Amino acid sequence: MVSGYTIRRSFRQLQLAVLLLTFVVGAAAAYGGGLFLRMQAERQLQVRAAETLAVQTEALTGILDKYRLLPPLLAHEDSVIALFEGSGDAAEAKRKAIEVSGMSGAEDVAFLRPDGSVLASADYDFPISHEQQRALLDASAQGRLGRQALITGDGRRVYAFAFGVRRGSRLIGHVAVYVNFDAVEATWSLSPDPVYVIDRTGTVFLSNRPEWRLQPFSSLASVNGEALRYRVGDSVLPGSDLSRDLTLLDWQLHVLTDRRPLFSASLVGGVIAGLVVLLIGAGLFALVQWREAQILRMRRDRSAALRLERLVRERTRALRETNLSLSQEIDERRQAEERLRKAQAELVQAGKLAALGQMSAALSHEFNQPLAAIRTYSDNSVRLLEKDRIDSVRDNLGRITGLVDRMAGLSRSLLSFSRKPGTSVKPVTLAPIVDEALMLTKPRANKAGIVIEWNPPDDLPQVLGGRIRLSQVFVNLINNAVDAIGDRGHGRIVVSLSCDDEGNVAACVDDDGPGVSDENADSVFEPFFTTKSVGSGIGIGLSIASGIVRDFGGRISLEKSALGGARFVVWLQSVDSQREAAE
Ligand code: ADP
Repeated sequence: MVSGYTIRRSFRQLQLAVLLLTFVVGAAAAYGGGLFLRMQAERQLQVRAAETLAVQTEALTGILDKYRLLPPLLAHEDSVIALFEGSGDAAEAKRKAIEVSGMSGAEDVAFLRPDGSVLASADYDFPISHEQQRALLDASAQGRLGRQALITGDGRRVYAFAFGVRRGSRLIGHVAVYVNFDAVEATWSLSPDPVYVIDRTGTVFLSNRPEWRLQPFSSLASVNGEALRYRVGDSVLPGSDLSRDLTLLDWQLHVLTDRRPLFSASLVGGVIAGLVVLLIGAGLFALVQWREAQILRMRRDRSAALRLERLVRERTRALRETNLSLSQEIDERRQAEERLRKAQAELVQAGKLAALGQMSAALSHEFNQPLAAIRTYSDNSVRLLEKDRIDSVRDNLGRITGLVDRMAGLSRSLLSFSRKPGTSVKPVTLAPIVDEALMLTKPRANKAGIVIEWNPPDDLPQVLGGRIRLSQVFVNLINNAVDAIGDRGHGRIVVSLSCDDEGNVAACVDDDGPGVSDENADSVFEPFFTTKSVGSGIGIGLSIASGIVRDFGGRISLEKSALGGARFVVWLQSVDSQREAAE
């Protein structure tokens, strides 16, 4: 996997590249945007100037055209020719001049004698000298339309048209029309840009800026290469000039436009384009950062997942090993338990043999006694047969049968007692098991002068256990009671069965022996604990008995007996209570 450091470094480089690109492209865009808007603005400026120029040219030439034709028309009119005939009627001429000037709106209309003196004019005070209009009258005298821009004595700027009045080919006078430009300038004043007319000498003749009028243009503006700067009031503005020649008048009409908006336009264009690129650059930068964070996060997640996977693998291996060792341990335990069970079984067997050893003298007496009695009965029977006392013989044979049955029962008990016990747990009835144990232990008790009391109840529930193992428990308890009572020659043992409220069955063995001292009470169930003399006991009876009872789900407890000795209670589960518990 690529290291985090490498990823970060590549992204740093990418971010740097984005920054550089943003600045370079931003600068180019700012320049281009500025240029573009400037060109747009310039085009608009040009269009506006051209429109202004066209309109104002039209306005100017329209006015001049209107008055241009007036002198030739008047010069050919008979009434006007008549004015110059003879001495000339000055009053009539004056009237005519006023009429024409009034109708045409000209500044003045004058009828001049061939030498230039005024015959009559609409405005007597029109301050213009013969000298001033020499060029005008010369052209007129030559038969051309005289044209001349004039500045009157009182400073009015007018344009004069003049045409010679002839009788035949003889010049008899001039008709002159003077045009005022106030109306033209009034229309120009609507334009925000300076509009002006320069005459042949470079003087501003007409302008919508009053302060420019009759000033040399060079004093108002300076041209430095392409750049033109002009003065308006106190400020000097950058401008561009658009002009048109008015050849008829030998004038030039100019429109100056303020170029400052071009600078603002290029500034706005540059700023907008630059900002747009800057924004795109910032977006790109953010995108690169976001992508870097995403890749790093994915990388972190992946390595975390790998770590987790490794951890799981390790844990799984450890668990497998633990499992293996556990199952090995379980096997070993099972084998050990198997060995233990075998040892226990052998111990149980040993316990039984020990009990049998203890009882053997009494048991052999138990067999010998009926055998001797059978012998006696059979001898008697022979004699009684000889005396033909058949009834007595039958009686003897019956006793013999009874004794044989008793011996057979005892032998059966012995046989089953000495047999290896099974391992199964099944429902058994306790009373016959106690009967069997008593059959084996009673001879010994009798021999010691001990009375065993046993009254089996009728309706006791079956318990869970094994017949031979339970009879071994009772044999052991009764033998211990006999041992405890000892050889004092008399004694009492009470074996009883009872059932508690929960359905558990208690088998009690009470004796009137010395009982178990408090200090030994906790030890009696421990293996190899004995208070008996060497050869009399090895201390495994109670431990085996309690093991057997525990296997059946019961327990043995030691109490003090009402008879004065010890009381051992064997608690066993009844079949019913066990079934209920299972349910
Ligand atoms: P053992 O009979 O070989 O000594 P047990 O395990 O049967 O082994 O008994 C252990 C001890 O418990 C006996 O040595 C005895 O001290 C005591 N004991 C058992 N039963 C009685 C009893 N009924 N009365 C007094 N002590 C008893």
